[in-house]
Amino acid sequence: MTDAHTSGSAALHVDGLVKRYANGVEALRGVALDVQPGEFFGLLGPNGAGKSTLIHCSTGLAQPTSGVVEVFGHDALHDYGLARQAVGLAPQELNIDWFLTVEETLDYHAGYFGMPRAERRERTDEMLETFSLTEKRKDRTRLLSGGMKRRLILARALMHRPRLLILDEPTAGVDIELRLELWHYVRDINRQGTTILLTTHYLEEAEQLCDKIAFINHGEIVAQGTSADLSQRYGVANLEDAYLELVGRKELSRSTGDEFTS
Ligand code: ADP
Repeated sequence: MTDAHTSGSAALHVDGLVKRYANGVEALRGVALDVQPGEFFGLLGPNGAGKSTLIHCSTGLAQPTSGVVEVFGHDALHDYGLARQAVGLAPQELNIDWFLTVEETLDYHAGYFGMPRAERRERTDEMLETFSLTEKRKDRTRLLSGGMKRRLILARALMHRPRLLILDEPTAGVDIELRLELWHYVRDINRQGTTILLTTHYLEEAEQLCDKIAFINHGEIVAQGTSADLSQRYGVANLEDAYLELVGRKELSRSTGDEFTS
């Protein structure tokens, strides 16, 4: 989308975003962030920090209590169709229909976004090739290995050629080999020009992949910048110290299990 209204816009513009759930939990308390076109942006925070809520507000799955969310200049709520069209979402859970084949999964998704049949076929072939799934195209999705399922979710998210790809904890609970494989794919996607917003609670993942990082904790962005900026700003040798200082060592080890305990 390169019309006058959207050119020069941030890929994702969030300002003063508050989300209070019906049970009174305030999951976001005035979040502001901008993801620029072409960036690989990491949203890093412990479980319960508000990462998924921010993604849900950006993709129309949750309605903000107040504040602004725009995707390439389109309001995520009032301009839902255009905003949603610009976003590909790879959710954390494997929300695949186990009765469809691999190619049907891709084709139906593109159909949902209004892509004409001939274009859908072409794009399906391209995505199957990109994600090394061509040989599996006629297989039911339930027969795929864990790695193939994750690749299928990425392929599906990209079918309608979104300009912004949102990855919600793509490597939570996956083994190291698969994590490295997924990194390889998402790096390539970004190099080819797709803007990426990645949520993670793995510091290493954000450090390895992202140009810019925002730390979120208790529904608030507590710091953002490049990893060099953040380390410099907090006067520490590396990002891990800055993160632990901002999020709190105790809280982090409690919420993320073993990986950050020392
Ligand atoms: P994260 O993705 O960082 O783990 P979430 O956005 O899932 O964090 O959750 C932020 C806070 O909002 C948590 O306290 C969580 O329990 C609460 N929360 C999330 N979804 C709902 C919901 N649908 N209803 C009520 N509270 C919710």
